Amino acid sequence: MLPVKKLPEIPEGITDQKAFCTRCRCLHSIPRAPAAHAALDLMARMDKELEISYLYGKALGKMFGVLICRSETGKTVILKAFSGQYNGEWEIKGWVPPLFDVNAFQQLNDPMEEKIKALGKMAATFRPDSRRYKEILNQRKQLSQQLMRDIHALYSLHNYRGEQRPLARLFPKGRGIPTGTGDCCAPKLLNYAAINNLQPQALAEFYWGRSNRSATKHEGQFYLACDGKCGPLLGYLLCGIQEARAS
Ligand SMILES: [Zn+2]
Ligand SMILES: [Zn+2]
Repeated sequence: MLPVKKLPEIPEGITDQKAFCTRCRCLHSIPRAPAAHAALDLMARMDKELEISYLYGKALGKMFGVLICRSETGKTVILKAFSGQYNGEWEIKGWVPPLFDVNAFQQLNDPMEEKIKALGKMAATFRPDSRRYKEILNQRKQLSQQLMRDIHALYSLHNYRGEQRPLARLFPKGRGIPTGTGDCCAPKLLNYAAINNLQPQALAEFYWGRSNRSATKHEGQFYLACDGKCGPLLGYLLCGIQEARAS
């Protein structure tokens, strides 16, 4: 028997999620408080939804999210997401998929990763001060950068005005795109809702599992979307949402 956990309570004064939209040059927002109950419900059945021992091992915990939506027929639909991959999987039944086609990702990523790894091994056979060593490492760096660009090109973001944009276009030119951008819960949930004609009503993200290394995230706590990765995306992803909610 697993120890019975005392579930967290809904924090008071939970603020709306806001994000600046470069398209409209204003802030768009979505309430968080109305999604808190659905988030607590999910926390209560996490061990039935997933193999949760993963969250207490080497991988540590992660962020989870719920998005309450209204369907075209007026039905309430609750979407749920985990950030990034879960125990090596991009797709798990019942959870929203990532922003890209998983097959296309694997076809692109897997052979390139092999090549990048092979270059690393090859470099190790040369002396670190040799010219060949530096050449191989430089080649490896260029391959990884190209792979990142090609991977980012697979991510397409949809807003609530029926528009879509590639991920790289939402980041200011010259500013690097952090690893894992687009894989957080909020982008997954909002993008999925936009594609499937669901009108988002409220969004909540929380942490579950063993605290992260820097101990800034704790199980059962609610958090706003991250600035570094989600900041540049969320404004666009929320674009048109207020109109969609009102209609
Ligand atoms: Zn994020
Ligand atoms: Zn906008």
